[in-house]
Amino acid sequence: MITLQQPVSIADALATATRALSHSESAKLDAEVLLAFCLQRERIYLYTWPERQLNAEQTQQFEQLLAKRQQGTPVAHLVGEREFWSLPLRVNDSTLIPRPDTEILVEQTLALGLADDAQVLDLGTGTGAIALALKSSKPQWRITAVDKSPAAVELARSNASALQLSINCQISDWFSGLPANDKFDAIVSNPPYIDAGDPHLQQGDVRFEPRSALVADNQGLADIEHIISQAGRFLRADGWLLVEHGWNQAAAVRGLMASYKFEAVNSMRDYANLERITVGQWRATDG
Ligand code: GLN
Repeated sequence: MITLQQPVSIADALATATRALSHSESAKLDAEVLLAFCLQRERIYLYTWPERQLNAEQTQQFEQLLAKRQQGTPVAHLVGEREFWSLPLRVNDSTLIPRPDTEILVEQTLALGLADDAQVLDLGTGTGAIALALKSSKPQWRITAVDKSPAAVELARSNASALQLSINCQISDWFSGLPANDKFDAIVSNPPYIDAGDPHLQQGDVRFEPRSALVADNQGLADIEHIISQAGRFLRADGWLLVEHGWNQAAAVRGLMASYKFEAVNSMRDYANLERITVGQWRATDG
């Protein structure tokens, strides 16, 4: 538990909090985001008014959030929000917290040069991050976002309505809830792909995220393979499939796409220069 001397200035509160959170890689940023949240201001305010004092209520709220952060609760859960593609998204513990790397999946989808009225499917949409990012950049695209979790679909819908972006959100376990004759120009997904034995699951924010959004059988490849094996039935001729995957799965995912008859299969790198997105094109016309 952190107790701040009262009254405390913004600068002193930040300095104390950054020290208290020093176990986190992002201690300074975490402290800033939490303090800005307590003050109901943007982060820039903290540096514009470093000498301003917190009132008693703000101080107490900040101390409580810091205590929870010290126990590992993700900052996004504490403030109920995470920015993705410059869109403020509500988040809760029913879905994955959107990651910056997933913006590359959005960029690559936008770079395909699809028609103005393209139909795009986001599988396992969670907060709705990918679907809403695409819709914000391509307002004419018709976007369907599905998730098997009712709580996720509810969250994606509420994000869509808060951002006034019109997408079709529905409950579906991958393709199972979609009409058999639905066809898309692109299918995108950030599915679960972590192996159940991965030590990474014991660290950081993932401990507070649903395992169903993170973990897959078969060394993390089971859901990716399921998606690849079914996607052809839901793609128009020349349609694209784009999936995010782990840093050491690119070759396996390329192999799966090739074995299910995708062409032009290619992987793209994330901000850490690791192959994290694989893309393939569906040429067959008879599904
Ligand atoms: N990239 C996330 C992580 O490693 C996992 C996302 C996912 O499983 N889809 O923390």
